[in-house]
Amino acid sequence: MISVTNQKRELFYGLIRIHVLLHAAHEPIFGMAMMEELAHHGYRIGPGTLYPLLHGMERGGLLKSVSGGGQGRRPRVYRITAAGRRALEKAREKVDELCHELHEAHPRELGSGREKSARYIV
Ligand SMILES: [Zn+2]
Repeated sequence: MISVTNQKRELFYGLIRIHVLLHAAHEPIFGMAMMEELAHHGYRIGPGTLYPLLHGMERGGLLKSVSGGGQGRRPRVYRITAAGRRALEKAREKVDELCHELHEAHPRELGSGREKSARYIV
């Protein structure tokens, strides 16, 4: 059984991933700084959640990490990949569209247009 808390978390994970891509597109990122940045945006996310999320994004080909290495135990650094940039661009379009609809008085009537119904690209 999926709890409401889990549902909410799933809902926000997508937004968090977009934030991660956005910052990684701008500069190499590492976990601690990303956690602070997310907290700034109101997402309280700990290392036990963020690191698996980053690893998942790396497995999915959106990020590529290099170990900080060295004697100072520098943090693992994540960079966006070409696929990550393409995903970010797509996400930007989707978020723009969602934002637009969120701020309208009413969402579109379901079934009021078929122009996009043939495409199931997420
Ligand atoms: Zn941010």
